[in-house]
Amino acid sequence: MATTSFDFDGETVIVTGGSSGIGRAMATRFGESGATVIVADVREDPKDVDEETPTHELIREMGSDAEYVETDVTDRSQVESVVEAAREYGGVDVMVNNAGLFLEGDMLDLSPEEFRQVHRVNVDGVFFGVQAAANDMLDRGEPGCIVNTASISSNEAQFDQVQYDSTKGAVRMITRGAALELAEHGIRVNAVAPGQIATEFVEGLTEEMYEDAENDGFLKPIPLGRPGEPEDIADAAAFLATEGASYITGELLQVDGGWQVC
Ligand code: NAP
Repeated sequence: MATTSFDFDGETVIVTGGSSGIGRAMATRFGESGATVIVADVREDPKDVDEETPTHELIREMGSDAEYVETDVTDRSQVESVVEAAREYGGVDVMVNNAGLFLEGDMLDLSPEEFRQVHRVNVDGVFFGVQAAANDMLDRGEPGCIVNTASISSNEAQFDQVQYDSTKGAVRMITRGAALELAEHGIRVNAVAPGQIATEFVEGLTEEMYEDAENDGFLKPIPLGRPGEPEDIADAAAFLATEGASYITGELLQVDGGWQVC
């Protein structure tokens, strides 16, 4: 099968949650495709013990410009600051709102603080990112595109995940609503919806467990026969940011190995 190649030469991309997992793969994908990448995360170092090089340094080693801006996406002013930082490179062309928090637990025992925290990161963080990037693009008169990270949970309920699923449902509708409002300005807004991806989110789950899985509301067999890799999501996000996707907006692109078709 042909490999995917993209050309983001001369473009500036911000990836929130870019230090780890899916965000790290996205940032790296844009960087190796020639983009200047700003990694915006609460942590500088990647989570995975085997991958000790911070994402922005990895991208620099590949030959592209990259910068790390410590950012808590729950704070609107910090999100605005990272968008402002992109002006040094000509302004943000692609804003990837990917930072997220997973919190599993029985809804009957969940505290208001726990519920709010996951909503603050996954919903407020995405909204602030869409808003700040769109305002900046409009101020500069340079429409770009926005890619949010949704989830299979944007459509499907899973056990012990009301608090998480409700955030990803909101990401779906922020994506659609913003796409509608920003279309007249030439700004496209889409989302990738990862299935179960091999990151710390699903730590401890093995390929054999998927193969043997009964449908228990969380684990079930994946038609394409494997859990996803962060790179699968990175390719989909990069595609949505290309000219090839110029007639696509408001879309939730499922990248789940067929998880949702059965
Ligand atoms: P991950 O490895 O935990 O990466 C998430 C990154 O976001 C981490 O570096 C995390 O830092 C950072 N972050 C957390 N709170 C933040 C905040 N307030 N401001 C800025 N950065 C923050 O998880 P992942 O699996 O790559 O998930 C990335 C996205 O994919 C999330 O939106 C998630 O909901 C979505 N997703 C994942 C899966 C999956 O199976 N993995 C499936 C569907 C959707 P800390 O580690 O310090 O918190």
